[in-house]
Amino acid sequence: MIRVLVWNEFFHEKDKNNASSEIYPNGIHNAIADFLGKEDDITVTTATLDDENCGITDEVLKNTDVIIWWGHCRHEKVPDEVAEKVQTAVLNGMGAIFLHSAHKSKPFMRLMGTSCSLIWRESGDFERVWVAKPSHPIAAGIDTCFELPAEETYGEPFGIPTPDEIVFMGWYSGGEVFRSGVTYTRGNGKVFYFQPGHETFPTYRDPSVQRVILNAVRWAAPTVRIDNAMDCPNPPSRNK
Ligand code: ZN
Repeated sequence: MIRVLVWNEFFHEKDKNNASSEIYPNGIHNAIADFLGKEDDITVTTATLDDENCGITDEVLKNTDVIIWWGHCRHEKVPDEVAEKVQTAVLNGMGAIFLHSAHKSKPFMRLMGTSCSLIWRESGDFERVWVAKPSHPIAAGIDTCFELPAEETYGEPFGIPTPDEIVFMGWYSGGEVFRSGVTYTRGNGKVFYFQPGHETFPTYRDPSVQRVILNAVRWAAPTVRIDNAMDCPNPPSRNK
């Protein structure tokens, strides 16, 4: 079984004046947990900013194979120690999927080490997400491209390190393009960033988006976990 933890700052959805409260009345984390939880090989738990320690402890991370992170305007409320725990868990081998505005989350920025900035516009542009690497497991089942009637526009330049692989490229009716799905290896862990998912559109109910996230969970699941990847051991010679 792949043990998935879906983390969400869970802020907009609780605001009755925000459209996301109607689209995701139980929060984006539960919307994602609902479709992942239908899979036989996946168990899902959730955590939010409201939980003690953001719901993230050493014990929780030890029992998480893949973490999914959604955050937007409360990134700074996540304590540095929590972000460091997530970063270390990835270096040890945990998989991590960062969605939409999590490009500016503390754990993602720590793992990238760059600005992770981009251009953005909340005009509800149409988006066409193109498969840039059809052979990649994260693109399995997605034929050529899929379309989202409305999304927040994210555009280049995207201040990320050169990805290991660009799996998806987004094009918007406003004219911008964006590296919408990119992969990294960080230490022993696999990282996937996926752009769709603005809170005021029902993006996480889209079958193609759900398929990509499901594929990414299976891709990012660890093949090995090293408990002390941050250590620098000083062993004796093996030839004495
Ligand atoms: Zn957004």
